[in-house]
Amino acid sequence: MQPFRDTQGTAMADLETFRTEAAAWLDANAPLEIRGLELDPDTGGGWGGRRATFDPPQLKDWLDRCAEKGWTAPQWPREYGGGGLSGAEARVLDQERKRLQLPEPLVGFGLTMIGPVLLQFGTEEQRQEHLTKIVRGEIRWCQGYSEPDSGSDLASLQTRAVRDGDEFVVNGTKVWTSYGDLSDWIFALVRTNPDVKKQEGISFLLIDMQTPGVAVRPIQLISGKSPFCETRFDDVRVPVANVIGEIDGGWTVAKALLGHERAMIADLFGAPRGGSRKAGSSLVNLAREYLDVPDDAPLSDAVLRDKIAASEMDTRAFHLTIQRSRDAAKAGHQPGPESSIFKVYATEANKRRCELAVELAGPRGLGWEGPGFEADELARTRAWLRSRGNSIEGGTSEIQLNIIAKRVLGLPD
Ligand SMILES: Cc1cc2nc3c(=O)[nH]c(=O)nc-3n(C[C@H](O)[C@H](O)[C@H](O)COP(=O)(O)OP(=O)(O)OC[C@H]3O[C@@H](n4cnc5c(N)ncnc54)[C@H](O)[C@@H]3O)c2cc1C
Repeated sequence: MQPFRDTQGTAMADLETFRTEAAAWLDANAPLEIRGLELDPDTGGGWGGRRATFDPPQLKDWLDRCAEKGWTAPQWPREYGGGGLSGAEARVLDQERKRLQLPEPLVGFGLTMIGPVLLQFGTEEQRQEHLTKIVRGEIRWCQGYSEPDSGSDLASLQTRAVRDGDEFVVNGTKVWTSYGDLSDWIFALVRTNPDVKKQEGISFLLIDMQTPGVAVRPIQLISGKSPFCETRFDDVRVPVANVIGEIDGGWTVAKALLGHERAMIADLFGAPRGGSRKAGSSLVNLAREYLDVPDDAPLSDAVLRDKIAASEMDTRAFHLTIQRSRDAAKAGHQPGPESSIFKVYATEANKRRCELAVELAGPRGLGWEGPGFEADELARTRAWLRSRGNSIEGGTSEIQLNIIAKRVLGLPD
């Protein structure tokens, strides 16, 4: 009799052998100091790069061991430092890592955005140059798409790149560059031809942020700090060899990258990184804690009860949908416009969930700082505020709905 196989042809018995081996490797190689560690998703290490800090320092050992094994990028080809795993194997690895309460060894836009695009559009030379540095966490990347006057209408971007021999000379300003001040390289959209239809004169350019003329200025938010930057280019000379895809053909590459970005954002909510962050603890637990509902009693407020049940069901159903879509994806799968469906659903559902968590906590859900609030409560308030940005970054919800209408459903303008 033939063994059962997953959608990519991996026999289930092989998968269980892989599970045993993966768990044993993780257990043997994860330093004790990092077990159960919950990293701050914005600042808590794991992002790599020349300025990376590791607290505790054993996180660096964890990164190095996983990179050596190819498990910082489990599904990337082995020749570029990846693990060469199938989708099903990568899922098992992820399950075992979470079961052992181990943090991801490496996160960031290198792995989730520019890496997959280099695999699809990069030349062999470009892949060799950049991919292994990404998997080893040596270089941190940021995204230079938005400009002061170009957000949703991204193709109207004005940052100019004028050719001078084997180089482009880049001038212009990017804005909302997440973590621009901590990154080493930027993947940027630049206008290389102003005389054609706007989408047809854009190139996708990789720029080393140490090049003279690149200046980064953090943007202060009302909270007093910011992960965003304004990034200026003043006569920045960039080799023509750093163009990904065709010169003037960057719009195709840009859209492919946005597919990966949207899938990554949806994954944040559909396949949480694991751990024990209380800011995200179950709504049922929050209701019991803040509304003093005993464990064996139902919540008397029927409206609130319905809202909690609906949110928990939406979350669970979405986790399973993401899981199914990952399982069905063939190796090398490139997310298309359907990633907008995942992105809009994930971010809008998460906003509702965060809103409800704050509602349940009442006045204790509105702390910003100070000793009057528990750390979990402050984290919850900030998670609620942060959730508002998720439905803007990577294209707003309105833009996702436009894409779904036009490119998925084929509706007329
Ligand atoms: C947390 C966060 C991180 C970000 N990180 C980065 C980054 O690293 N790199 C980067 O390049 N950018 C980044 N951005 C910028 C982001 O991509 C833009 O904010 C986004 O594309 C929207 O552009 P905008 O802010 O100019 O808004 P606008 O385009 O001015 O939109 C304003 C409003 O009008 C609506 N709207 C606009 N056009 C349409 C339309 N055709 N149909 C219906 N409604 C429309 C929008 O939905 C929105 O509600 C980030 C943004 C956030 C919030």
